[in-house]
Amino acid sequence: MTGTDLARETVERAAERARRLAAETGVRPCLATVLVGEDPASVTYVAMKRNRCAKADVESRHVPLPAATTTEELVAVIRELSADPTVHGILLQHPVPAHIDERAAFEAIDPAKDVDGVTMASFANMAFGHQGFVSCTPGGIMRLLDAYGVDPRGRHAVVVGRSPILGKPMGMLLLGRDATVTYCHSRTVDLPAVLATADIVVAAVGKPRFIRGEHLKPGAVVIDAGYNPGNVGDVDFEEAMAKARLVTPVPGGVGPMTIAVLIDQTVDAAVRQSAALGTPVAAAR
Ligand code: NAP
Repeated sequence: MTGTDLARETVERAAERARRLAAETGVRPCLATVLVGEDPASVTYVAMKRNRCAKADVESRHVPLPAATTTEELVAVIRELSADPTVHGILLQHPVPAHIDERAAFEAIDPAKDVDGVTMASFANMAFGHQGFVSCTPGGIMRLLDAYGVDPRGRHAVVVGRSPILGKPMGMLLLGRDATVTYCHSRTVDLPAVLATADIVVAAVGKPRFIRGEHLKPGAVVIDAGYNPGNVGDVDFEEAMAKARLVTPVPGGVGPMTIAVLIDQTVDAAVRQSAALGTPVAAAR
């Protein structure tokens, strides 16, 4: 169950919409990427996102900030980007250094530009099923499930992890598609007993090969959102393949979809903002 082909198609369709928008209105979608400090993994992630933007005819404007940036300084930078009409989407690379109030920084993003789906307004819209931007990794996982014909309706979906950008929104999206959702986390008493009844498992823990074949119900669908040092997921892929119906690999599963959704939502943001300004737009989906 790979994500590379679907991610490529998603980016190609977004690129086509970006080109149409530019041709019709002169507006080129622009994603601002904000990176605080020089954490090597974050530097790589931002570079990957900007490279993919370039392939999709989406402009990217990089804002690197020193690790010593204060919450107030970061909030001021993000407010400026929120007010800049030439910027359509804003990505604040997570995690920020520990001394920064990340929530305050996220909340400085105008929800109309929150293409990474990190604000409380975006979470609420997603949870209520209203139009808005979804958190990119869970959004990408839902698109993967659809592409592989996995209907969550009535299924028992177990999300292992409850972080604000991954586990928590993942469960809400599955609930919105009529799954029976269970969240598991570090205080869950008997994780193997819960996993044994899961039709769909989403692993979002951040521990290499944490979920083993012995934990899985035969025929389950297993989504590995983990990405640990050495390109290792949260699921033991070989063992899971022997037991499950579908398993996403790491790399090449969820990761490419995350960036594809980010780009797609950046084009959506540019289209919506152009339409809000009264510019005729035919680049909508
Ligand atoms: P996180 O904020 O560290 O959250 C980890 C979650 O796992 C927490 O909710 C934690 O529970 C739970 N957990 C920890 N130990 C557990 C245990 N023994 N049993 C059950 N649950 C346990 O991590 P994250 O940001 O959500 O990321 C999770 C993984 O996804 C990482 O590997 C990350 O690299 C990857 N990721 C990938 C992408 C992508 O694009 N592919 C994007 C984002 C993240 P508590 O809440 O109780 O502490």
